[in-house]
Amino acid sequence: MASELEPEVQAIDRSLLECSAEEIAGKWLQATDLTREVYQHLAHYVPKIYCRGPNPFPQKEDMLAQHVLLGPMEWYLCGEDPAFGFPKLEQANKPSHLCGRVFKVGEPTYSCRDCAVDPTCVLCMECFLGSIHRDHRYRMTTSGGGGFCDCGDTEAWKEGPYCQKHELNTSEIEEEERNTSRQTKPLKVQVMHSSIVAHQNFGLKLLSWLGSIIGYSDGLRRILCQVGLQEGPDGENSSLVDRLMLSDSKLWKGARSVYHQLFMSSLLMDLKYKKLFAVRFAKNYERLQSDYVTDDHDREFSVADLSVQIFTVPSLARMLITEENLMSIIIKTFMDHLRHRDAQGRFQFERYTALQAFKFRRVQSLILDLKYVLISKPTEWSDELRQKFLEGFDAFLELLKCMQGMDPITRQVGQHIEMEPEWEAAFTLQMKLTHVISMMQDWCASDEKVLIEAYKKCLAVLMQCHGGYTDGEQPITLSICGHSVETIRYCVSQEKVSIHLPVSRLLAGLHVLLSKSEVAYKFPELLPLSELSPPMLIEHPLRCLVLCAQVHAGMWRRNGFSLVNQIYYYHNVKCRREMFDKDVVMLQTGVSMMDPNHFLMIMLSRFELYQIFSTPDYGKRFSSEITHKDVVQQNNTLIEEMLYLIIMLVGERFSPGVGQVNATDEIKREIIHQLSIKPMAHSELVKSLPEDENKETGMESVIEAVAHFKKPGLTGRGMYELKPECAKEFNLYFYHFSRAEQSKAEEAQRKLKRQNREDTALPPPVLPPFCPLFASLVNILQSDVMLCIMGTILQWAVEHNGYAWSESMLQRVLHLIGMALQEEKQHLENVTEEHVVTFTFTQKISKPGEAPKNSPSILAMLETLQNAPYLEVHKDMIRWILKTFNAVKKMRESSPTSPVAETEGTIMEESSRDKDKAERKRKAEIARLRREKIMAQMSEMQRHFIDENKELFQQTLELDASTSAVLDHSPVASDMTLTALGPAQTQVPEQRQFVTCILCQEEQEVKVESRAMVLAAFVQRSTVLSKNRSKFIQDPEKYDPLFMHPDLSCGTHTSSCGHIMHAHCWQRYFDSVQAKEQRRQQRLRLHTSYDVENGEFLCPLCECLSNTVIPLLLPPRNIFNNRLNFSDQPNLTQWIRTISQQIKALQFLRKEESTPNNASTKNSENVDELQLPEGFRPDFRPKIPYSESIKEMLTTFGTATYKVGLKVHPNEEDPRVPIMCWGSCAYTIQSIERILSDEDKPLFGPLPCRLDDCLRSLTRFAAAHWTVASVSVVQGHFCKLFASLVPNDSHEELPCILDIDMFHLLVGLVLAFPALQCQDFSGISLGTGDLHIFHLVTMAHIIQILLTSCTEENGMDQENPPCEEESAVLALYKTLHQYTGSALKEIPSGWHLWRSVRAGIMPFLKCSALFFHYLNGVPSPPDIQVPGTSHFEHLCSYLSLPNNLICLFQENSEIMNSLIESWCRNSEVKRYLEGERDAIRYPRESNKLINLPEDYSSLINQASNFSCPKSGGDKSRAPTLCLVCGSLLCSQSYCCQTELEGEDVGACTAHTYSCGSGVGIFLRVRECQVLFLAGKTKGCFYSPPYLDDYGETDQGLRRGNPLHLCKERFKKIQKLWHQHSVTEEIGHAQEANQTLVGIDWQHL
Ligand SMILES: [Zn+2]
Ligand SMILES: [Zn+2]
Ligand SMILES: [Zn+2]
Ligand SMILES: [Zn+2]
Ligand SMILES: [Zn+2]
Ligand SMILES: [Zn+2]
Ligand SMILES: [Zn+2]
Repeated sequence: MASELEPEVQAIDRSLLECSAEEIAGKWLQATDLTREVYQHLAHYVPKIYCRGPNPFPQKEDMLAQHVLLGPMEWYLCGEDPAFGFPKLEQANKPSHLCGRVFKVGEPTYSCRDCAVDPTCVLCMECFLGSIHRDHRYRMTTSGGGGFCDCGDTEAWKEGPYCQKHELNTSEIEEEERNTSRQTKPLKVQVMHSSIVAHQNFGLKLLSWLGSIIGYSDGLRRILCQVGLQEGPDGENSSLVDRLMLSDSKLWKGARSVYHQLFMSSLLMDLKYKKLFAVRFAKNYERLQSDYVTDDHDREFSVADLSVQIFTVPSLARMLITEENLMSIIIKTFMDHLRHRDAQGRFQFERYTALQAFKFRRVQSLILDLKYVLISKPTEWSDELRQKFLEGFDAFLELLKCMQGMDPITRQVGQHIEMEPEWEAAFTLQMKLTHVISMMQDWCASDEKVLIEAYKKCLAVLMQCHGGYTDGEQPITLSICGHSVETIRYCVSQEKVSIHLPVSRLLAGLHVLLSKSEVAYKFPELLPLSELSPPMLIEHPLRCLVLCAQVHAGMWRRNGFSLVNQIYYYHNVKCRREMFDKDVVMLQTGVSMMDPNHFLMIMLSRFELYQIFSTPDYGKRFSSEITHKDVVQQNNTLIEEMLYLIIMLVGERFSPGVGQVNATDEIKREIIHQLSIKPMAHSELVKSLPEDENKETGMESVIEAVAHFKKPGLTGRGMYELKPECAKEFNLYFYHFSRAEQSKAEEAQRKLKRQNREDTALPPPVLPPFCPLFASLVNILQSDVMLCIMGTILQWAVEHNGYAWSESMLQRVLHLIGMALQEEKQHLENVTEEHVVTFTFTQKISKPGEAPKNSPSILAMLETLQNAPYLEVHKDMIRWILKTFNAVKKMRESSPTSPVAETEGTIMEESSRDKDKAERKRKAEIARLRREKIMAQMSEMQRHFIDENKELFQQTLELDASTSAVLDHSPVASDMTLTALGPAQTQVPEQRQFVTCILCQEEQEVKVESRAMVLAAFVQRSTVLSKNRSKFIQDPEKYDPLFMHPDLSCGTHTSSCGHIMHAHCWQRYFDSVQAKEQRRQQRLRLHTSYDVENGEFLCPLCECLSNTVIPLLLPPRNIFNNRLNFSDQPNLTQWIRTISQQIKALQFLRKEESTPNNASTKNSENVDELQLPEGFRPDFRPKIPYSESIKEMLTTFGTATYKVGLKVHPNEEDPRVPIMCWGSCAYTIQSIERILSDEDKPLFGPLPCRLDDCLRSLTRFAAAHWTVASVSVVQGHFCKLFASLVPNDSHEELPCILDIDMFHLLVGLVLAFPALQCQDFSGISLGTGDLHIFHLVTMAHIIQILLTSCTEENGMDQENPPCEEESAVLALYKTLHQYTGSALKEIPSGWHLWRSVRAGIMPFLKCSALFFHYLNGVPSPPDIQVPGTSHFEHLCSYLSLPNNLICLFQENSEIMNSLIESWCRNSEVKRYLEGERDAIRYPRESNKLINLPEDYSSLINQASNFSCPKSGGDKSRAPTLCLVCGSLLCSQSYCCQTELEGEDVGACTAHTYSCGSGVGIFLRVRECQVLFLAGKTKGCFYSPPYLDDYGETDQGLRRGNPLHLCKERFKKIQKLWHQHSVTEEIGHAQEANQTLVGIDWQHL
């Protein structure tokens, strides 16, 4: 098909290519009807270019379109070649001076909390860094993509709108536009004529073309705007812009985003046109929103989403309100879309459909628009603004009216409700409106006239809602203590009640504003105060509060969780400001306007407690008659709740306008009460405080005044702690405490008082005075009904047996009495001459009850209760009350006469206090003893149950059952020189070692012939010391690990938690874990934190991840070294000769064995020829003294090391097993030496027990392992290792000395040597061999260092005459120079050479000292146990080396010269010296994690520039930084998955295999989270090393505070890495948090 079409296509192409843009433009310029001319051109050519079905060459299409269609237009525009025309335009243009940078996904954006007009105003990083805001309080977020930098927009910033770069400029624009998230929705399918499709395609092309050409010139931009907004012939709504907007929902997504972009780069980049566009947008608002609501695309794809660009500009918002009545339009549009109403016209969400729910969600964006419009409050009001705002306010009240009383509920009795009623929709609405309601009040507060009008309107609407009593509500009369009041009969527990009362609450808010702004006193005549009916005002809020009390009393249990949730949100910090808080205010308003006795009676009635308090002796009867415990309990709770409410009404005066306080006092009080519960981190505090519409809590301005900041340590967070002087402001009945918080706070505050040795009473704090409008409220405390309630409850407490009462009830009454006394005291203190204090609480409570009741006075009852034994806890409070009473009384009488048995009281007080103290002390002591006893019993029990009940065992209960060895730190004569090896080795008296098995608790001695004891151990591959991360073992089955390369690219590390078990106890434990795990996996198919199939288990004591065990051994050399000790030992030269002969003999025999076909005669001939060295018996097989169980463990651990180290299947016969064991020993010692050096710790300083035990066991194990391997295999290894230094004919392909890690070589040689030495009966001792091997390797290392030393001369030559070492090393260097054929660099100074030898060899010497120390058990010299200088001399002496190391060469020059010569002759060494290859230099530097920037945002920025390496420039969603090598990876994404060992893995897991041999440490940049990975199944998140100023991390970057590097925390992560503890850390994290186990870590 394609080939047939081609000629035709080509023909068209030719005809198209022949068009000349210049000619066409010329024709147009002369045309009389330009439009017609252009249209005809397009009609002709567009289908030709765009009408060819599937397009194989989009570039060609673009090219043709440019040539034939766009080119002529450009010519026409410029009047010349656009290649010249556009640059000219651009040059002449004064560029738009806004930044307008469009954000990439993940790019950091900054908002200034001090200066941004609202949180949508943001800066790009470059502008931010050049702005004044970098020193302000800023917030950092990562962009979701789209949106613009607001730099240069004067309306977006209160201060500093320009950065340095955009400083010179003036203009304005833009902001949020996002285009991501694709949705799958049913596709609209329509058959269309192909030319229509062609024109559509061209249309899109044209729109983006327009976007690009207006970029050349502001003038062109303005022309485009003008044309776009020009009204067409059809009048209203006929401009291009209107028509586009109105057909938005008919367009497909691609078309929408193209023209939205064009709008943003044209209309929104210019203030004048932005304004005109705003008007068009507002005029079409209703249509646009309706289109959006019925549309099925996300809001990002709707033109309605442009509202944020317009409404957040304060001047535009104000203009649209006054000129276009925008507020009313938005609210009315919103109301139009919420049609589900009940019979009373209230919203009803009960039975709304899924479709309605969907619509409801979409309509909510209108509330956001309303919020944008209101977000900046007017500073000046015009009459028009007033009028339009109030019109909007009317509409808003209509909305609230539909919410007043919605979702009413009725108490369910008998049966539980069948279906949980819908409640979330109503609360969503309330929550979304919360800020709008607050902002409405703020607007009202800013203008007196508006406030008055709004108040009137709100009251009118409230009266419409609840005017008069409805039919069912019968009037009744209540009376107590001679007061009576008319009210209605209404029971919350029987009739409908609603939590939603936004109209009442708005009125409460406005009422407070009347007080705060003093409008109430300035213009009382303008206010409808006389129309207010307090009982009407309080009725519904009171019902709502009673509902809460009844729910708390358990009366609404059958109404299910929906009610519980509603009550929760009613008090929650997100809602309470416009719900619960306002209900309290409304009651306060009510009480302050009516007789408090009346109020209390109504309240009693609504709480359904009226009868109890109005009927004398009702309580007594009640408790005796009604035996139903639930009802008693219920009533008690209700009484408690009612008292709590009264406390709140009197005590909550911290809203400005209610009490004489300011906003700061209010926040301070919130914070004080939060911190009274416990010290809190910044983020915790922020969460507990309500946020305003700008996401601010105001906390930072006051926190310093009330709290101390405690910096975080290495873990944990920075904490704020309440200042001690603020404790006196603590109110136990603070209304925002939840019940749990209240009891925690009470406990904490009492504890504090006890610590300060104060009495533990928590009296009410001194309160600020009420504002005049609320002042009369305090009288409730001294009202007759209140006194009656107090008296009744005290009476119950006095006759405590006969009544149903509770201590909380009493506690609240005491608190109320305390409040009244504080009140009276303050009144007396502030009294002026002409006023009489009318608050006479003290007098009232001194009076006994009147006849006929004749009850004692409240005071008298308090005195009785003071001594009641059953009220121990409240004694301090009663005492405080009596003391305060006396003080007040004194103040009042201003004469020192003592009333009411004061002296008696005090004396009793004193003596009882002493008695109390003694008693408390005694009790505390008893408690302490009991606790200790229990603890002792517990730990004993744990020891025994540990075996069977492992899961009961928590890692926190660490019992240290391991005994650290006794060998160390035993007294050593200080003048004795200690020598770790060789014939002169210090003889250590044999020490017996006893250990206890953690599983069976039996003690046992470590002995050669007894049952094996083992340490739990973890073997892992490691690249921590690697100097070459690109190396990779290709084929582990064939890999030969005999020689370790000095780049240490991959080693095997062994660690242990130090816990000791019997081998058989461990075996049993492991078998049971295995069996249990298999059952569990079958059942649940779950992972565990450890992989049983791979031999992993958790240490039964500390739950440390382990995968094998190491046997405990005595120093193995002693066992084999008990042969005759000849004093006459060979020197190095002789020894090498002997060993070489022995090796030769062995090799000969080996050859014989492998060629058995040869004639026997020949054999014997050769044997004769061979001449076995004297005393060498190659057929001898030594007897192995170890018990079977120890041998078994030697094999077990050896095989595990082999399996893990090479990643192969276990095979105990493999000749590489012993090599891996030696290698693990060497590598582990090297890594520990590095840690100690890096931390400047002494080599033999106090090591943690577990490390010490591990190194000792590991070294001894490695030394004993040959006994379970084949002697000839080990001999073979020895020969080969030996040949690398002492060449012989049969080994040729050995690495040169530059490519051997000398410490690994040393360990291998020393540990393999016994296999040879055991057949030698010539009298050479093992020690002699060790010493010679050590000297030989040391010399090789020195040569290695000299060959690679990089001695850059810097003229720092020492003037002193060279010391002995310097001349010696210089001589040696000259020899080398000679052997290398002068390829070695020119001779540097002896001083430099000696210095580099000393520095280079230090790590080797230290490792060797550790090795021989653990091998032979010789105590370390005390000098090396303390930190200080390098201890070079001490090390040499301990290792039997001369201080002048070069002496070794001189002493053995006979053999050494030839050896050195042979080393230098190696071709690789030559290549190195000729600069053809590189070599490792010494000392090797320690590896560190990469350097991280101080400021976290620069990391984010770096990551936002990172695109996925596999999908051609797409931004990576989860850029992740390897902290080991610094690679950025595209994690958690299909694009970068690769296959690893037959499984799909993510980029991080794949990277760990090459970079960390399976272990990885990453930073997830978008989340600000550290990620640890180990293998494919293990991982955990770890706290990042970045903290905000409050000492907190921000995982997930949710808070957006600036983050800075915490070096200590980063060091801690590095330390985990150095210590090989990452895998262990993951294990602990997974054990602590099981959800981590379920994550598919391999996909990260
Ligand atoms: Zn910018
Ligand atoms: Zn800027
Ligand atoms: Zn600022
Ligand atoms: Zn045991
Ligand atoms: Zn352990
Ligand atoms: Zn890496
Ligand atoms: Zn990718």
